[in-house]
Formats: sequence, C-alpha cells, structure tokens
Amino acid sequence: MKIIADRDRCAGAGMCALTAPEHFDQDDADGLVVLLADEAEDCDTEVAEAVDLCPSGALRLR
Ligand code: SF4
Repeated sequence: MKIIADRDRCAGAGMCALTAPEHFDQDDADGLVVLLADEAEDCDTEVAEAVDLCPSGALRLR
C-alpha cells in the first residue's frame, strides 16, 4: 500500500515517527513529517497504527 503524507495538515506531533520510525521522520527545521519510505506491506501494523494515531489526519493509506 502507498503512504500519503500531507505536510500542509501535519501539526508536527511526532506520533508517526515514534510509532513507525522506519517509515516516518520529522524535519529538523519545522518538525513536520518526512516520509522515509512511501510503500508499506498490507500487513504492516506499525504503519496502520501511525496513520490512526496522527492527530491531524495528515496521513492516509491507498
Ligand atoms: S503524527 Fe501526524 S501530525 Fe504528527 S508528525 Fe506525524 S503526520 Fe505530522
């Protein structure tokens, strides 16, 4: 599945980077999400959890 991160909606809360650090990081300058990998296995529960936990709805799976 494809991971889509909307930096315009990101609030820099960092839940994604804490939950799935192989796929998400935060920009050193502004704290906004940086995608390290935009593809994930369908069974990747860490990525699914990160999407669910994002408080601003900035992450989607397709
Ligand atoms: S959890 Fe959501 S708001 Fe927080 S850094 Fe990640 S994408 Fe941004």
